[in-house]
Amino acid sequence: MEHPLYIQNTLTKEKENFIPIESPFVGMYVCGPTVYSDVHLGNVRTFLSFDIMYRYLKHLGYKVRYVRNITDVGHLVGDVDEGEDKIAKKAKAEQLEPMEVVQKYTNNFHDVMRIFNIQNPSIEPTATGHIIEQIEMVQAILERGFAYEVNGSVYFDVLKYSESENYGILSGRKIDELLNNTRDLDGQNEKKNAVDFAIWKKAEGGHLMRWNSPWGEGFPGWHLECSVMSTKYLGKDFDIHGGGMDLKFPHHECEIAQNKASQNAGGAKYWVHTNMLTVNGRKMAKSEGNGFTPEELISGNHKLLEQGYSPMTVRFFILQCHYASTLDFSNEALKAAEKGYARLMNAVQLIKDLPISDESSQNLNDFKARALAAMNDDFNTPIAIAALFDLSKFINSVKDGKEQINQMDKDHLLGWMPTFVDEVLGLSQEEQGRNNELVDELMKAFIALRLQARENKNYELSDQIRDGLKEVNITLKDGKEGTSWSID
Ligand code: AMP
Ligand code: ZN
Repeated sequence: MEHPLYIQNTLTKEKENFIPIESPFVGMYVCGPTVYSDVHLGNVRTFLSFDIMYRYLKHLGYKVRYVRNITDVGHLVGDVDEGEDKIAKKAKAEQLEPMEVVQKYTNNFHDVMRIFNIQNPSIEPTATGHIIEQIEMVQAILERGFAYEVNGSVYFDVLKYSESENYGILSGRKIDELLNNTRDLDGQNEKKNAVDFAIWKKAEGGHLMRWNSPWGEGFPGWHLECSVMSTKYLGKDFDIHGGGMDLKFPHHECEIAQNKASQNAGGAKYWVHTNMLTVNGRKMAKSEGNGFTPEELISGNHKLLEQGYSPMTVRFFILQCHYASTLDFSNEALKAAEKGYARLMNAVQLIKDLPISDESSQNLNDFKARALAAMNDDFNTPIAIAALFDLSKFINSVKDGKEQINQMDKDHLLGWMPTFVDEVLGLSQEEQGRNNELVDELMKAFIALRLQARENKNYELSDQIRDGLKEVNITLKDGKEGTSWSID
């Protein structure tokens, strides 16, 4: 397949021409949520960014197998190797079974994805559904000499691995610095070195989630599930692996090490990391207390929110920033997004009723070329939206008789712009859009009524219509082409 898509590869630090291993098939793996709490807008930003990649790859004609996992075991509080499982901790606090916690927050995650029009992945595997495969990978790593067992736990031997491979290849961390800086607290009595990480942990007395293994009862290390599930569903070598930037180290660095140590393959060819959504410059996170849920965002019921914002306004707000840049939350930006979204959707609605001329006054292919070029340049949605804004301006000018469009260009525009907005950007018409359509229809009826009144020389009625509309800030303008209207 011929295409010019470039992706910034955080592994090589280069913007690379994307060439799938087995074109037209593309394998994409994204680390999903740890399901122990409600999803916040920061999480939405990351999953929405990968939704755009998934949509655009499909738009280019690729057959994408998109795997996004659910972490339902093994992720310990503080992202370390010792202590409580995040899910088990919540289960105790809420007096639920761990799997009730998992179901509750998986449901919440799915609801939120649906609200923001984020498409379902092709496969959504869970860590607990792949315990056997995880045990097998631990065995393979042990057999190849890159791990050691101590007292029912198995640790990855980072120093041994570093003799032949580069631990730090993704994150740029240096092993010497890590050795100096890592506090020797996690499993300090058991690990050979503080940089080593658990791939299997013995379940101590009170630990709720546990499985039998060759090393006794225990549970898998957090990083292991993604190595296992990406390999199982996408193969040893696959195309794209993504996640938020905060997962680069240790999570993804450890994944690469596990893949190399168990099967001598690095996993993904392209690594893609999304940047963080911040609030007043600080990462939005549950632990910071600055993370609002989508429900709060929509209702406006949160101290940081001046009003409620619709899901598509929020989607538009997120798309107006490139995924690799930080995005700071502000009411001003969301209010601007509300207007921008309405302007774009309104233009899409207008196309079908545009008046036709013999010639177009502009080369319309330019707008499309700019939008596609932006998407081909590492999925640059803000630049693509800027091109669509210019196009919207042109569409409005055609409606007002200041620019012209011919039949062929209009058909072409109808053929791509609504599809691009809907399928690639995932922006659907909200109630607001439907209301606009309704207003359009009503205005047509008023204008026809007024025209009839004038034809019948009933000027009193025609003035009454015009003045009545003026009272609700709608101005009628009589021109050569007939009567047009605008909202003041
Ligand atoms: P978690 O469930 O906390 O592991 O997070 C799920 C995904 O959301 C991960 O890819 C995180 O990197 C990402 N994430 C968490 N906080 C933010 C944030 N403030 N902005 C963007 N992405 C985030
Ligand atoms: Zn992962």
